[in-house]
Amino acid sequence: MNLCVYLLVNVLNMNSQHKLSLLLNSKSLDSDLVSIAEKVSLGKRITDGDCLALYEKADLPTLGILANYIRESKHGDTVYFNRNFHMEPTNVCLYTCSFCSYSRLIKKRSEGWEYSLEDMMDIVKKYDDQPVTEVHIVGGVLPQYDVQFYTDLFRLIKEHRSDLHIKALTPVEYHYIFKKAKITYEEGMKLMDEAGLDSMPGGGAEIFHPEIRDQIAGGKCSGEEWLRIHEIWHELGRRSNATMLYGHIEEFKHRVHHMSELRKLQDKTGGFQTFIPLKFRNKGNDMSHVEESTVVEDLRNYAISRIYLDNFDHIKAYWPMIGRDTAQLSLAFGVDDLDGTIDDTTKIYSMAGSEEQNPSLTTQQLVQMIRRVGRKPIERDTLYNVVTDFEGHVFEDDKKYKGYLSLPVVNN
Ligand code: SF4
Repeated sequence: MNLCVYLLVNVLNMNSQHKLSLLLNSKSLDSDLVSIAEKVSLGKRITDGDCLALYEKADLPTLGILANYIRESKHGDTVYFNRNFHMEPTNVCLYTCSFCSYSRLIKKRSEGWEYSLEDMMDIVKKYDDQPVTEVHIVGGVLPQYDVQFYTDLFRLIKEHRSDLHIKALTPVEYHYIFKKAKITYEEGMKLMDEAGLDSMPGGGAEIFHPEIRDQIAGGKCSGEEWLRIHEIWHELGRRSNATMLYGHIEEFKHRVHHMSELRKLQDKTGGFQTFIPLKFRNKGNDMSHVEESTVVEDLRNYAISRIYLDNFDHIKAYWPMIGRDTAQLSLAFGVDDLDGTIDDTTKIYSMAGSEEQNPSLTTQQLVQMIRRVGRKPIERDTLYNVVTDFEGHVFEDDKKYKGYLSLPVVNN
């Protein structure tokens, strides 16, 4: 971690209550922002208009103070992480989302991969002696990956390793496979539940507003359909996450609309656990001409989502996508959960031009990353039950002396 990151994190971590009081007494703060700060200090919900005002007017330190206050009220110094592994059945896809760097068109399918059930189970078996708690399954959309394939896959995984939490597929896949099978969303999600699906990841949400969605992800499920499938899953008593792909052609009002739809559904069902802002990357896709957001904008966005989404317990950052330094900084701007592969690798992030081209950290490295910014690392399972509290944990490697060995004194 560079010195600048270290100093900034430490300044922002200083007594969040005191910082908020100073902000409230500031004479130079815009009146809209004073009113928002008052709401935050009283634990009141901010409006959609307030959220837009934060995007348009609030500077980074102000957002940091507000988001960090909420973050510490909810979680103290805790930072969660999860040990999982990723399986991607295919990267060939029927759809042509313009931001996607990961998929290959059907006419170029020879450049991609298409795994069978046996291939997928071989991957699962590779982790038999690993302390992972979750398998995360997403990929492209192709006809052979249908209801039968996925229900068979979930059953096989559970037969092989019943304690492994299956977090799989997004409404993009579900919408397609249920339509193809001519069954309703309700019938389809019930089949998935019975086959062993435990939770749903947050992907495929992109930006819900059709003005933007139709341009970047036309043809796949609409925003309403995405929300409806999560709602049905929540009604079955199950949990899921939500994402937002930001920093491309959308405007601030589209981000507010997106989060507003999520907040409304969460008020209704309470089924979302975590909100994950996903930074648009411009490498190897049809939007390479669109500039990427800056680190400051990334941090502002984390902070605003923390302030606005009062009914979401967790805000997560994907460290492989934004890089380790920004991930550490995000822990002072509302983020309480770090995700990304640990003791493992995946191709999704590096193919999209993410910061980390070799996105692999050991558990020890991740724990150190969290400790260095004054936070407390906790390994969780998918549902945020504590697996290991790493606060006082000493790794074998920590015991080894890493300084210079003294040289023998030689008398001339
Ligand atoms: S984002 Fe998903 S649905 Fe869109 S092209 Fe890529 S893999 Fe296919």
